[in-house]
Amino acid sequence: MTIYADNAATTRMSDTAVAAMLPCMQEFYGNASSLHSTGQKAAEILQAARETVADCIGCLPQEITFTSGGSEADNQAIVSAARIGEKKGKKHIISTAFEHHAVLHTLEKLEKEGFDVELLPVGSIGTVTAEQVKAAIREDTCLVTIMYANNEIGSILPIPEIGKVCREAGVLFHTDAVQAAGHLHIDVKEQNIDMLSLSGHKFHGPKGVGVLYAKRGIRLTNIIEGGAQERGKRAGTENIPAIAGLAAALKEACEHIDENAAKVSALRDKLIAGLSQIPHSALNGDPVNRLPGNVNFCFEGIEGESLLLLLDAKGISASSGSACTSGSLDPSHVLLAIGRPHEVAHGSLRLSLCEENTEEEMDYILAETPKIVEYLRNMSPMWKDLVSGKRTFML
Ligand SMILES: *Cc1c(COP(=O)(O)O)cnc(C)c1O
Repeated sequence: MTIYADNAATTRMSDTAVAAMLPCMQEFYGNASSLHSTGQKAAEILQAARETVADCIGCLPQEITFTSGGSEADNQAIVSAARIGEKKGKKHIISTAFEHHAVLHTLEKLEKEGFDVELLPVGSIGTVTAEQVKAAIREDTCLVTIMYANNEIGSILPIPEIGKVCREAGVLFHTDAVQAAGHLHIDVKEQNIDMLSLSGHKFHGPKGVGVLYAKRGIRLTNIIEGGAQERGKRAGTENIPAIAGLAAALKEACEHIDENAAKVSALRDKLIAGLSQIPHSALNGDPVNRLPGNVNFCFEGIEGESLLLLLDAKGISASSGSACTSGSLDPSHVLLAIGRPHEVAHGSLRLSLCEENTEEEMDYILAETPKIVEYLRNMSPMWKDLVSGKRTFML
């Protein structure tokens, strides 16, 4: 059996997305900026995709900029808000300690330029409140950037409330909605969102394509310089196949959002209930306001990497947190942000599900994982110390 349970890292492309892409590669292959009819056909597909995406998130087509992915959209949103802010002498930015690195590393760069970046603590559940944001806003705040839902631990943040606080204070609000788009209802107008990032490959669309929504009137700063594509705000020949695939996948995901969420959260809850039975384990993230597909646990006394390898040998593709931190020895900044000690943070497992997963797969995961955890604990010096009382259990 092979089970794919790493949908927060990326998803399998849907038939709908592939079907939307194929004709763009060999039939409608024109350059959308060309004046001839082959180019104009591509321009039509581009416009249709822009309208589809706008419909899915409740904005105008001209408020959509296609990018190379969620990372680029995050970079462009944050840099744009910073440039708008500094013109007015405002250089204070509010964010959280558990954002994606596309946000955190962009903020670090701005910090070196003299911006004052304040990362709000996320507490043990991994969330921030609108009150926290309100209390942090200052006269010189130019941007609040807070993720819609966390990619590692699945917490869903109170975005409409945070947006309201920002709107009342006249501060730009950006949200990295890469984990939320296609999975949670998004309406940028109703939810008081000024800028939003999303990415095709997190909802069964293609990789290497994303969207930056920016409310009319917000002047975007170019990250990529060159031609006048995307109203001059994002140079480079539009990737029509990818854009068409993203739009088709997002539309399909949004049309089935409630039924998918119901199905996937039932699978999630089954896994959470089963894995909670493992002694000295703990669920990470908000137990209530949680992405339908996210399961994230810490198991004391083991290394997450070893757990992953042994799960993989049993045909289960999972993650220890984020695809971006695997390969580095540092524990996840997200788990540290919710207060997990280093030793505990190392023993993490993220299983991220989608509507293609089945109940039988959950049974299999629940049969295999406890055995592997026990096997690893039996060879772990740290576990020996815990059992003998040389170290004290933290979970
Ligand atoms: C995946 C992800 C990104 C990066 O998106 P890419 O399209 O892979 O660049 C950014 N933020 C979050 C929360 C993500 O999960």
